[in-house]
Amino acid sequence: MRPFDYQRPDGLDHAGQLARADGAMAIAGGTNLLDLMKLQVETPGTLVDVNSVGMNTIDADGDGLRIGALVTNTATAAYDAVRRDYAVLARAILAGATQQLRNKATTGGNLCQRTRCYYFTHLDQPCNKREPGSGCGALKGIARLHAILGTSSECIATYPGDMAVAMAALGATVEVTGPAGERSIPVREFHRLPGDMPQKDNALEPGEIITAVRLPAPTQGQHIYRKVRERSSYAFALCSVAAIIRMEEGRFAHADLAFGGLAHKPWHDPRITELLVGSEPSLALFDKAADLLLEDAQGYGENDFKIPLARRTLKSVLCEVTGVDA
Ligand SMILES: Cc1cc2nc3c(=O)[nH]c(=O)nc-3n(C[C@H](O)[C@H](O)[C@H](O)COP(=O)(O)OP(=O)(O)OC[C@H]3O[C@@H](n4cnc5c(N)ncnc54)[C@H](O)[C@@H]3O)c2cc1C
Ligand code: SF4
Repeated sequence: MRPFDYQRPDGLDHAGQLARADGAMAIAGGTNLLDLMKLQVETPGTLVDVNSVGMNTIDADGDGLRIGALVTNTATAAYDAVRRDYAVLARAILAGATQQLRNKATTGGNLCQRTRCYYFTHLDQPCNKREPGSGCGALKGIARLHAILGTSSECIATYPGDMAVAMAALGATVEVTGPAGERSIPVREFHRLPGDMPQKDNALEPGEIITAVRLPAPTQGQHIYRKVRERSSYAFALCSVAAIIRMEEGRFAHADLAFGGLAHKPWHDPRITELLVGSEPSLALFDKAADLLLEDAQGYGENDFKIPLARRTLKSVLCEVTGVDA
Protein backbone atom coordinates (compact mmCIF):
# COMPACT_ATOMS: atom_id res chain seq x y z
CA MET A 1 0.00 0.00 0.00
CA ARG A 2 1.29 3.48 -0.80
CA PRO A 3 1.59 6.10 1.99
CA PHE A 4 -1.46 8.31 2.42
CA ASP A 5 -2.71 10.99 4.75
CA TYR A 6 -5.63 10.14 7.06
CA GLN A 7 -8.08 12.81 8.18
CA ARG A 8 -10.94 12.62 10.64
CA PRO A 9 -13.15 15.67 9.99
CA ASP A 10 -15.12 17.14 12.87
CA GLY A 11 -18.31 17.77 10.89
CA LEU A 12 -19.86 17.55 7.44
CA ASP A 13 -18.57 20.98 6.34
CA HIS A 14 -15.06 20.03 7.38
CA ALA A 15 -15.38 16.70 5.55
CA GLY A 16 -16.48 18.61 2.44
CA GLN A 17 -13.43 20.90 2.65
CA LEU A 18 -11.05 17.96 3.04
CA ALA A 19 -12.73 16.00 0.22
CA ARG A 20 -12.06 18.86 -2.21
CA ALA A 21 -8.27 18.38 -2.03
CA ASP A 22 -6.66 16.73 -5.06
CA GLY A 23 -6.42 12.97 -4.56
CA ALA A 24 -8.74 12.92 -1.54
CA MET A 25 -11.27 10.11 -1.17
CA ALA A 26 -13.98 9.46 1.39
CA ILE A 27 -13.76 6.22 3.32
CA ALA A 28 -16.76 4.71 5.12
CA GLY A 29 -16.82 0.97 5.92
CA GLY A 30 -13.62 0.50 3.95
CA THR A 31 -14.69 -2.92 2.67
CA ASN A 32 -14.15 -1.98 -0.98
CA LEU A 33 -11.74 0.93 -0.83
CA LEU A 34 -9.13 -0.71 1.40
CA ASP A 35 -9.06 -3.83 -0.80
CA LEU A 36 -8.42 -1.65 -3.85
CA MET A 37 -5.75 0.36 -2.02
CA LYS A 38 -3.90 -2.82 -1.06
CA LEU A 39 -3.87 -3.78 -4.75
CA GLN A 40 -2.80 -0.20 -5.66
CA VAL A 41 -5.82 0.15 -7.93
CA GLU A 42 -6.85 3.13 -5.79
CA THR A 43 -4.06 5.39 -4.57
CA PRO A 44 -5.69 8.29 -2.68
CA GLY A 45 -3.37 10.96 -1.27
CA THR A 46 -5.77 11.60 1.59
CA LEU A 47 -8.45 9.43 3.16
CA VAL A 48 -11.31 11.45 4.61
CA ASP A 49 -12.93 9.20 7.21
CA VAL A 50 -16.57 10.24 7.08
CA ASN A 51 -17.54 7.97 9.99
CA SER A 52 -17.16 10.87 12.41
CA VAL A 53 -19.67 13.23 10.78
CA GLY A 54 -23.07 11.71 11.64
CA MET A 55 -25.27 10.79 8.64
CA ASN A 56 -25.96 7.53 10.49
CA THR A 57 -29.71 7.64 11.10
CA ILE A 58 -32.84 6.66 9.16
CA ASP A 59 -35.56 9.29 9.46
CA ALA A 60 -39.09 9.87 8.23
CA ASP A 61 -39.00 12.24 5.23
CA GLY A 62 -42.47 13.43 4.28
CA ASP A 63 -44.22 10.27 3.08
CA GLY A 64 -40.91 8.50 2.54
CA LEU A 65 -37.65 7.72 4.35
CA ARG A 66 -34.22 9.34 4.42
CA ILE A 67 -31.38 6.86 4.92
CA GLY A 68 -28.11 8.51 6.00
CA ALA A 69 -25.00 7.75 3.97
CA LEU A 70 -23.30 6.15 6.99
CA VAL A 71 -26.16 3.82 7.93
CA THR A 72 -24.86 0.29 7.63
CA ASN A 73 -26.47 -2.19 5.25
CA THR A 74 -27.35 -4.36 8.27
CA ALA A 75 -29.17 -1.47 9.97
CA THR A 76 -31.10 -0.54 6.81
CA ALA A 77 -32.21 -4.10 6.11
CA ALA A 78 -33.34 -4.56 9.74
CA TYR A 79 -35.17 -1.23 10.03
CA ASP A 80 -38.87 -1.87 10.69
CA ALA A 81 -40.23 0.61 8.13
CA VAL A 82 -37.83 -0.70 5.46
CA ARG A 83 -38.87 -4.30 6.10
CA ARG A 84 -42.55 -3.34 6.10
CA ASP A 85 -42.80 -0.74 3.32
CA TYR A 86 -39.70 -1.25 1.16
CA ALA A 87 -39.20 -5.00 1.40
CA VAL A 88 -37.50 -5.08 -2.02
CA LEU A 89 -34.68 -3.00 -0.50
CA ALA A 90 -34.27 -5.18 2.58
CA ARG A 91 -34.26 -8.29 0.36
CA ALA A 92 -31.69 -6.86 -2.06
CA ILE A 93 -29.34 -5.85 0.75
CA LEU A 94 -29.65 -9.27 2.41
CA ALA A 95 -28.82 -10.93 -0.93
CA GLY A 96 -25.48 -9.08 -0.98
CA ALA A 97 -22.10 -10.04 0.46
CA THR A 98 -22.13 -11.58 3.97
CA GLN A 99 -23.38 -10.53 7.39
CA GLN A 100 -19.89 -9.42 8.44
CA LEU A 101 -19.51 -7.24 5.35
CA ARG A 102 -23.03 -5.84 5.67
CA ASN A 103 -22.21 -4.83 9.26
CA LYS A 104 -19.48 -2.52 7.90
CA ALA A 105 -20.83 -1.59 4.46
CA THR A 106 -22.62 1.76 4.31
CA THR A 107 -25.27 3.31 2.07
CA GLY A 108 -22.79 5.70 0.44
CA GLY A 109 -19.99 3.16 0.11
CA ASN A 110 -22.29 0.51 -1.32
CA LEU A 111 -23.55 2.90 -4.00
CA CYS A 112 -19.96 3.77 -4.95
CA GLN A 113 -18.46 0.27 -4.89
CA ARG A 114 -16.39 -0.41 -7.98
CA THR A 115 -16.66 -3.11 -10.61
CA ARG A 116 -15.52 -6.67 -9.98
CA CYS A 117 -13.99 -6.99 -13.47
CA TYR A 118 -10.85 -9.13 -13.05
CA TYR A 119 -8.78 -6.90 -15.35
CA PHE A 120 -9.64 -3.84 -13.27
CA THR A 121 -7.93 -5.30 -10.21
CA HIS A 122 -4.82 -6.66 -11.95
CA LEU A 123 -2.28 -3.91 -12.58
CA ASP A 124 -0.47 -5.93 -15.25
CA GLN A 125 -3.63 -6.10 -17.42
CA PRO A 126 -5.07 -3.48 -19.78
CA CYS A 127 -8.11 -1.71 -18.36
CA ASN A 128 -9.60 1.57 -19.55
CA LYS A 129 -11.44 2.02 -16.27
CA ARG A 130 -8.26 1.84 -14.18
CA GLU A 131 -5.92 3.39 -16.74
CA PRO A 132 -7.77 5.28 -19.51
CA GLY A 133 -6.41 4.49 -22.97
CA SER A 134 -4.74 1.20 -21.97
CA GLY A 135 -7.42 -0.98 -23.61
CA CYS A 136 -10.01 -3.41 -22.32
CA GLY A 137 -8.80 -6.91 -21.44
CA ALA A 138 -12.31 -8.25 -20.97
CA LEU A 139 -13.53 -7.50 -24.52
CA LYS A 140 -11.74 -10.56 -25.84
CA GLY A 141 -10.96 -12.20 -22.54
CA ILE A 142 -12.66 -13.46 -19.39
CA ALA A 143 -16.08 -11.89 -19.56
CA ARG A 144 -18.34 -14.20 -17.59
CA LEU A 145 -19.52 -11.52 -15.15
CA HIS A 146 -19.70 -8.79 -17.74
CA ALA A 147 -22.42 -6.61 -19.22
CA ILE A 148 -24.81 -7.35 -22.07
CA LEU A 149 -26.63 -4.00 -22.05
CA GLY A 150 -25.29 -0.46 -22.52
CA THR A 151 -21.71 -1.57 -23.19
CA SER A 152 -19.17 0.40 -25.22
CA SER A 153 -16.05 -0.49 -27.14
CA GLU A 154 -14.11 0.94 -24.18
CA CYS A 155 -15.62 -1.10 -21.33
CA ILE A 156 -18.09 -3.94 -20.72
CA ALA A 157 -17.93 -4.00 -16.91
CA THR A 158 -20.98 -4.39 -14.69
CA TYR A 159 -21.93 -2.42 -11.63
CA PRO A 160 -21.82 -5.19 -9.02
CA GLY A 161 -24.14 -3.94 -6.24
CA ASP A 162 -27.56 -5.20 -5.17
CA MET A 163 -28.87 -2.38 -2.96
CA ALA A 164 -28.87 0.18 -5.78
CA VAL A 165 -30.90 -2.12 -8.03
CA ALA A 166 -33.74 -2.08 -5.48
CA MET A 167 -33.32 1.68 -5.05
CA ALA A 168 -33.61 2.11 -8.83
CA ALA A 169 -36.86 0.11 -8.86
CA LEU A 170 -38.15 2.22 -5.96
CA GLY A 171 -37.27 5.50 -7.72
CA ALA A 172 -35.00 6.68 -4.86
CA THR A 173 -32.83 9.81 -4.94
CA VAL A 174 -29.20 10.30 -3.89
CA GLU A 175 -28.51 13.46 -1.89
CA VAL A 176 -25.01 14.90 -2.22
CA THR A 177 -23.10 17.92 -0.99
CA GLY A 178 -20.02 19.43 -2.59
CA PRO A 179 -18.21 22.53 -3.80
CA ALA A 180 -21.30 23.69 -5.74
CA GLY A 181 -23.66 23.11 -2.79
CA GLU A 182 -26.29 20.43 -2.33
CA ARG A 183 -28.06 18.55 -5.10
CA SER A 184 -30.20 15.47 -5.61
CA ILE A 185 -29.60 12.80 -8.25
CA PRO A 186 -32.16 10.09 -9.06
CA VAL A 187 -30.58 6.68 -8.39
CA ARG A 188 -31.57 5.74 -11.96
CA GLU A 189 -29.20 8.49 -13.19
CA PHE A 190 -26.52 8.15 -10.51
CA HIS A 191 -24.49 5.36 -12.16
CA ARG A 192 -23.19 5.93 -15.70
CA LEU A 193 -22.88 3.84 -18.81
CA PRO A 194 -19.21 3.46 -19.74
CA GLY A 195 -19.25 5.31 -23.10
CA ASP A 196 -15.77 6.69 -23.77
CA MET A 197 -15.18 7.53 -20.09
CA PRO A 198 -15.37 4.19 -18.28
CA GLN A 199 -13.11 5.55 -15.54
CA LYS A 200 -16.09 7.56 -14.28
CA ASP A 201 -18.55 5.23 -12.54
CA ASN A 202 -21.17 7.68 -11.41
CA ALA A 203 -22.44 11.26 -11.47
CA LEU A 204 -20.44 12.45 -8.43
CA GLU A 205 -18.25 15.45 -9.20
CA PRO A 206 -14.82 15.85 -7.55
CA GLY A 207 -15.21 16.74 -3.89
CA GLU A 208 -18.86 15.68 -3.65
CA ILE A 209 -19.95 13.49 -0.74
CA ILE A 210 -23.12 11.44 -0.54
CA THR A 211 -25.13 12.47 2.52
CA ALA A 212 -28.25 10.30 2.20
CA VAL A 213 -30.64 8.38 -0.01
CA ARG A 214 -34.30 9.43 -0.01
CA LEU A 215 -36.97 6.80 -0.62
CA PRO A 216 -40.30 8.04 -2.00
CA ALA A 217 -43.64 7.15 -0.43
CA PRO A 218 -44.10 3.38 -0.26
CA THR A 219 -45.83 1.52 -3.10
CA GLN A 220 -48.24 -1.20 -2.08
CA GLY A 221 -47.82 -4.52 -3.84
CA GLN A 222 -45.41 -7.42 -3.98
CA HIS A 223 -41.73 -6.63 -3.47
CA ILE A 224 -39.39 -9.19 -4.97
CA TYR A 225 -35.62 -9.36 -5.34
CA ARG A 226 -34.47 -12.35 -7.39
CA LYS A 227 -30.69 -12.77 -7.61
CA VAL A 228 -29.11 -15.44 -9.79
CA ARG A 229 -25.52 -16.21 -8.83
CA GLU A 230 -23.00 -19.00 -8.85
CA ARG A 231 -23.57 -20.00 -5.22
CA SER A 232 -26.26 -19.09 -2.73
CA SER A 233 -24.29 -16.52 -0.74
CA TYR A 234 -21.11 -14.47 -0.94
CA ALA A 235 -21.37 -14.06 -4.72
CA PHE A 236 -22.19 -11.18 -7.03
CA ALA A 237 -25.24 -11.29 -9.30
CA LEU A 238 -25.01 -12.78 -12.77
CA CYS A 239 -28.47 -11.31 -13.17
CA SER A 240 -30.90 -9.85 -10.66
CA VAL A 241 -34.42 -8.46 -10.83
CA ALA A 242 -35.93 -6.02 -8.34
CA ALA A 243 -39.68 -5.82 -8.85
CA ILE A 244 -42.47 -3.88 -7.19
CA ILE A 245 -45.73 -5.11 -8.65
CA ARG A 246 -49.36 -4.62 -7.72
CA MET A 247 -52.23 -6.43 -9.43
CA GLU A 248 -55.80 -5.08 -9.39
CA GLU A 249 -58.77 -6.88 -10.92
CA GLY A 250 -56.53 -9.24 -12.85
CA ARG A 251 -54.37 -6.53 -14.42
CA PHE A 252 -51.04 -4.91 -13.60
CA ALA A 253 -51.79 -1.71 -11.65
CA HIS A 254 -48.15 -0.96 -10.80
CA ALA A 255 -44.96 -2.47 -12.23
CA ASP A 256 -41.53 -1.00 -11.57
CA LEU A 257 -38.58 -3.25 -12.29
CA ALA A 258 -34.82 -2.82 -12.30
CA PHE A 259 -32.08 -5.26 -13.24
CA GLY A 260 -28.63 -5.95 -11.83
CA GLY A 261 -25.63 -7.81 -13.25
CA LEU A 262 -26.49 -6.82 -16.83
CA ALA A 263 -24.98 -3.36 -17.26
CA HIS A 264 -22.57 -0.74 -15.96
CA LYS A 265 -25.51 0.58 -13.90
CA PRO A 266 -28.74 -0.73 -12.40
CA TRP A 267 -30.85 -1.08 -15.53
CA HIS A 268 -34.32 0.48 -15.58
CA ASP A 269 -36.39 0.47 -18.75
CA PRO A 270 -39.59 2.55 -18.49
CA ARG A 271 -40.97 0.79 -21.59
CA ILE A 272 -41.46 -2.36 -19.50
CA THR A 273 -43.65 -0.45 -17.03
CA GLU A 274 -45.62 1.08 -19.93
CA LEU A 275 -46.14 -2.35 -21.48
CA LEU A 276 -47.26 -4.07 -18.29
CA VAL A 277 -49.45 -1.49 -16.54
CA GLY A 278 -53.09 -1.99 -17.52
CA SER A 279 -52.41 -5.35 -19.19
CA GLU A 280 -53.60 -8.80 -18.27
CA PRO A 281 -50.76 -11.16 -17.41
CA SER A 282 -49.81 -13.88 -19.90
CA LEU A 283 -46.68 -15.67 -21.05
CA ALA A 284 -46.92 -13.81 -24.37
CA LEU A 285 -46.91 -10.46 -22.52
CA PHE A 286 -43.92 -11.52 -20.43
CA ASP A 287 -42.06 -12.51 -23.60
CA LYS A 288 -42.74 -9.04 -25.00
CA ALA A 289 -41.36 -7.49 -21.80
CA ALA A 290 -38.21 -9.62 -22.15
CA ASP A 291 -37.96 -8.67 -25.85
CA LEU A 292 -37.96 -4.99 -24.85
CA LEU A 293 -35.38 -5.56 -22.13
CA LEU A 294 -33.05 -7.50 -24.40
CA GLU A 295 -33.66 -5.71 -27.70
CA ASP A 296 -30.09 -4.32 -27.82
CA ALA A 297 -28.40 -6.99 -25.71
CA GLN A 298 -24.98 -8.14 -26.86
CA GLY A 299 -22.91 -10.99 -25.45
CA TYR A 300 -19.12 -11.21 -25.46
CA GLY A 301 -18.61 -14.97 -25.67
CA GLU A 302 -18.32 -16.10 -22.07
CA ASN A 303 -21.32 -14.05 -20.99
CA ASP A 304 -23.63 -14.95 -23.92
CA PHE A 305 -25.60 -17.07 -21.46
CA LYS A 306 -26.79 -13.92 -19.69
CA ILE A 307 -29.20 -13.11 -22.53
CA PRO A 308 -31.39 -16.21 -22.05
CA LEU A 309 -30.75 -16.05 -18.30
CA ALA A 310 -32.15 -12.50 -18.08
CA ARG A 311 -35.19 -13.52 -20.15
CA ARG A 312 -35.91 -16.52 -17.94
CA THR A 313 -35.35 -14.61 -14.69
CA LEU A 314 -37.68 -11.79 -15.71
CA LYS A 315 -40.37 -14.22 -16.86
CA SER A 316 -40.03 -16.30 -13.72
CA VAL A 317 -40.51 -13.23 -11.49
CA LEU A 318 -43.58 -12.14 -13.48
CA CYS A 319 -45.04 -15.66 -13.33
CA GLU A 320 -44.48 -15.80 -9.58
CA VAL A 321 -46.21 -12.48 -8.97
CA THR A 322 -49.21 -13.17 -11.21
CA GLY A 323 -49.67 -16.91 -10.79
CA VAL A 324 -49.31 -17.52 -14.55
CA ASP A 325 -47.88 -21.00 -15.21
CA ALA A 326 -44.39 -20.88 -16.67
C1 LIG B 1 -16.09 -10.65 -0.64
C2 LIG B 1 -17.08 -9.57 -0.93
C3 LIG B 1 -18.34 -9.92 -1.43
C4 LIG B 1 -19.27 -8.91 -1.70
N1 LIG B 1 -20.49 -9.26 -2.23
C5 LIG B 1 -21.38 -8.27 -2.53
C6 LIG B 1 -22.64 -8.57 -3.10
O1 LIG B 1 -22.99 -9.73 -3.34
N2 LIG B 1 -23.48 -7.53 -3.37
C7 LIG B 1 -23.15 -6.24 -3.10
O2 LIG B 1 -23.94 -5.33 -3.36
N3 LIG B 1 -21.95 -5.93 -2.59
C8 LIG B 1 -21.08 -6.91 -2.30
N4 LIG B 1 -19.86 -6.59 -1.78
C9 LIG B 1 -19.46 -5.19 -1.75
C10 LIG B 1 -19.79 -4.51 -0.46
O3 LIG B 1 -21.18 -4.39 -0.37
C11 LIG B 1 -19.13 -3.14 -0.56
O4 LIG B 1 -17.74 -3.35 -0.35
C12 LIG B 1 -19.64 -2.17 0.46
O5 LIG B 1 -21.01 -1.94 0.31
C13 LIG B 1 -18.91 -0.84 0.33
O6 LIG B 1 -19.33 -0.01 1.39
P1 LIG B 1 -18.24 0.62 2.35
O7 LIG B 1 -18.99 1.52 3.30
O8 LIG B 1 -17.36 -0.39 2.98
O9 LIG B 1 -17.43 1.50 1.30
P2 LIG B 1 -15.90 1.96 1.28
O10 LIG B 1 -15.04 0.80 0.96
O11 LIG B 1 -15.59 2.75 2.49
O12 LIG B 1 -15.96 2.96 0.04
C14 LIG B 1 -16.28 2.49 -1.26
C15 LIG B 1 -16.29 3.68 -2.21
O13 LIG B 1 -17.31 4.58 -1.83
C16 LIG B 1 -16.80 5.87 -1.62
N5 LIG B 1 -17.61 6.46 -0.55
C17 LIG B 1 -17.89 5.90 0.66
N6 LIG B 1 -18.74 6.69 1.33
C18 LIG B 1 -18.98 7.76 0.55
C19 LIG B 1 -19.78 8.94 0.69
N7 LIG B 1 -20.53 9.16 1.77
N8 LIG B 1 -19.78 9.83 -0.32
C20 LIG B 1 -19.03 9.62 -1.44
N9 LIG B 1 -18.27 8.53 -1.64
C21 LIG B 1 -18.26 7.61 -0.65
C22 LIG B 1 -15.33 5.66 -1.27
O14 LIG B 1 -14.56 6.82 -1.56
C23 LIG B 1 -15.00 4.49 -2.17
O15 LIG B 1 -14.74 4.94 -3.47
C24 LIG B 1 -18.93 -7.56 -1.46
C25 LIG B 1 -17.68 -7.22 -0.92
C26 LIG B 1 -16.76 -8.21 -0.66
C27 LIG B 1 -15.42 -7.81 -0.09
S1 SF4 C 1 -14.50 -4.25 -18.89
FE1 SF4 C 1 -14.05 -2.20 -18.12
S2 SF4 C 1 -13.21 -2.61 -16.11
FE2 SF4 C 1 -13.02 -4.52 -17.29
S3 SF4 C 1 -11.04 -4.47 -18.40
FE3 SF4 C 1 -12.53 -3.59 -19.73
S4 SF4 C 1 -12.31 -1.40 -19.29
FE4 SF4 C 1 -11.47 -2.45 -17.55
